Amino acid sequence: MKKTFVTQPSLPPIEKFIPYLEKIWDSKVLTNGGPFHQKLETELIKFLNIENISLFTNGTIALITALQALRITGEVITTPYSFVATSHALLWNGIKPIFVDVDPNTFNIDPGKIESAITPQTTAILAVHCYGNPCDTERIQKIADNYNLKVIYDAAHAFGVDCDCGSVLNHGDLTIMSFHATKVFNTFEGGAIISQDLKTKIRIDHLKNFGFVDETTVVAPGINGKMNEFCSALGLLQLEYFDELIAKRKIIDSLYRENLSNIKGIRILERKEKKSNFAYFPILITEENALSRDEVFDKLVSNNIVPRKYFYPLISEFPMYRGLASSSLENLSHAKRISEQIICLPIYPDLELETVSRICDLLRL
Ligand SMILES: *Cc1c(COP(=O)(O)O)cnc(C)c1O
Repeated sequence: MKKTFVTQPSLPPIEKFIPYLEKIWDSKVLTNGGPFHQKLETELIKFLNIENISLFTNGTIALITALQALRITGEVITTPYSFVATSHALLWNGIKPIFVDVDPNTFNIDPGKIESAITPQTTAILAVHCYGNPCDTERIQKIADNYNLKVIYDAAHAFGVDCDCGSVLNHGDLTIMSFHATKVFNTFEGGAIISQDLKTKIRIDHLKNFGFVDETTVVAPGINGKMNEFCSALGLLQLEYFDELIAKRKIIDSLYRENLSNIKGIRILERKEKKSNFAYFPILITEENALSRDEVFDKLVSNNIVPRKYFYPLISEFPMYRGLASSSLENLSHAKRISEQIICLPIYPDLELETVSRICDLLRL
């Protein structure tokens, strides 16, 4: 029997991509802000309802560059419940991560616990819209204003997500995105920084191109973070199919919710956003379940369903973080429990509804 994985990248019909390739071959412009790169920036601004975007080679380099662009130093308050790149970007900038526990209902950083983690060294808050669930951006901004801190959002999961006040991407000083193959919108590898003013966007564009302003002027120790024309063209094509793919995801999400909502020992994450992208389907295997999380996981795997323990372990448990005072488990009890109960179920546009029903049956028994 064929294995079902937690995600499967969606690809546009290959024949639709050929004309893009022909244009690249004809023009011989392969990278450095070519026509597809410029067009993808323009189209994403419209599609996502944002002001400025800078495309990147991946989300991690975008995150590292965002911290550089805002000249963040010292300590940054962040969440242990994320993909490891969130904190790694801090270490790459010589910044000390200070972990704060998550809210047990949203799995996002708990704004009520941020203030007590602030020290004279704190310069910023780096929060994650986990599974596309918007952070409490209003409360986070209030704290940042009170203490003169910058705010960066890791929106790697939040492409196309709206909260009550519009796109979730328009909060904080900077927001980063990932277009990695596993994300809802992919360019094979890719990423972006969304900025709130043109001056900052221009600085970011310099930083992603070695600090070059023109052929002979270098203004900063920049990096090579540019998105190439192949990936940009893919992005343009993928964008045409995005709404259709989200509609397919929504059907799968609804079917899971219908089937799993009243099962003892299974908790479904409530969605708070106005418009979701249905990127993930996380469930918690709680104490009331006859099986442990790992037993449920093994049961699914032995039935050719390969879910993910995403996120387990916590970032703060990896060797380069576990020595920090803020990594102590007493400090992170909600995040710890969630990481021990979490399973992300398969969800992707081409997942068959029959398979979804079979997964639900396996979880029900
Ligand atoms: C995927 C992801 C990243 C990293 O993005 P890449 O494009 O793979 O470098 C960062 N943060 C979160 C939360 C992610 O899920």
